[in-house]
Amino acid sequence: MSRYLPSSQLSAETALLHAGYRHDPVTKSVAVPIYLSTAYELDGDLQRIADVYNVKEDGFTYTRIINPTTRILEQRYAAVDGGRDSLAVASGQAATFLALVNLCSGKPGDNVVVSKYLYGNSWNLLFNSFKRLGIEARSADPREPSSFEALADDRTIAFFGETFSNPCLIPLPVAALAEIGQRLGIPLVVDNTVTPLVSRPGALGAAITTYSATKYICGHGTTLGGLVVDNGRFAFDEPRRFPLFNEPDEAHGGILWREAVDRLGDLGASAFLLKARMTWLRDTGAAISPLNSFQLIQGLETLHLRMQRHCENAAVVARFLKGHPKVRRVSYPGLATGQERERVDELVDPKVGHGAMILFELEDETAGRTFIQNIRLLYHVSNVGDARTLVTHPVSTTHTTVPKQQREAAGIYDGSIRLCVGIENVNDVIDDIKRGLDAI
Ligand SMILES: *Cc1c(COP(=O)(O)O)cnc(C)c1O
Repeated sequence: MSRYLPSSQLSAETALLHAGYRHDPVTKSVAVPIYLSTAYELDGDLQRIADVYNVKEDGFTYTRIINPTTRILEQRYAAVDGGRDSLAVASGQAATFLALVNLCSGKPGDNVVVSKYLYGNSWNLLFNSFKRLGIEARSADPREPSSFEALADDRTIAFFGETFSNPCLIPLPVAALAEIGQRLGIPLVVDNTVTPLVSRPGALGAAITTYSATKYICGHGTTLGGLVVDNGRFAFDEPRRFPLFNEPDEAHGGILWREAVDRLGDLGASAFLLKARMTWLRDTGAAISPLNSFQLIQGLETLHLRMQRHCENAAVVARFLKGHPKVRRVSYPGLATGQERERVDELVDPKVGHGAMILFELEDETAGRTFIQNIRLLYHVSNVGDARTLVTHPVSTTHTTVPKQQREAAGIYDGSIRLCVGIENVNDVIDDIKRGLDAI
């Protein structure tokens, strides 16, 4: 009797530990094995091997395209997020790139309508690199969902934004944008890096969810990785907008992706991800190492406990900052009011919390620098989502070269400080913040 329970019967906390794998069939190893192998022997029936290469049957061919350890990470995270399947890649940047480029028509003139509040390197990818590839990015205001509609046309291949923008924490109106997208035939792609388990964009109608798994999913600041989840909410069946999903694709021997999935088992769960894997991942080589996949699987095991503690600590820190006389303003989803509150409530699972990123304002650049120079526990680094509390003064680091006017339009001022609250004892975190603030 197989002891393997289907993922659909598991809640997220259980899926983090169990989905996609029971034990190794040969050794009965309970931990997921690291299959550090580039290739897989092509023995047995040659017709079957040809069928695997021609996407007529599931199977392992080459680790740039598919790997057994990575495949468990992919199936496990898809189950956690309620998606059909996911694709693991080398980094969060690779996930954003592949998710969007997989939608392009193959002809110059496609465009993507994106939130104007974006992680810096997503901005660079969209407004510089994509432009060079002939894909235009148009920036819309997430506070006004209709601004996405106003910028869309029959060459718009996606709407894109972050659930809560890094670092300004502007909530994305996911349900409203998904509804507009469904009406116009445009899929919504959401970067949920900052709020895994806290938010489920797929449940609100997002077609695709992307993650930098480098952050909370890894959780320990050790490993780069990215995930693209197909939420099964979008058909990609409009032939004019998405010809490569609806006409024979020369990039893989004239395959019709929507027919190919019908022949497959596990890999047939998503035509979107099958195409991404067999063409863009194959051709860009943005593959994740099986060692990294193993580390991310370790991270997943405690993700729900960590997220809960991150969120609890962040709520305490946000309240402390809000009551401090040297702090001019605090942005934290848990403190939102009015219409923003309604947007936040739609996005978060209150049982988990409101995320662990906080942006707060000190008086000026000198105050920001003084704060950073006087903390002793918090790490001054530019990443997010470590188990340790991290802090950044964007003006002295990530945003030094961004002109002031452009920076302020993006919500980053001279005295802005971004905090990613860790899972330490929160009193120690607050003591260190006090040390920094007292020095101003
Ligand atoms: C870090 C980050 C990325 C990029 O991820 P990498 O794993 O560093 O490539 C993308 N989006 C957001 C919101 C991030 O914080």
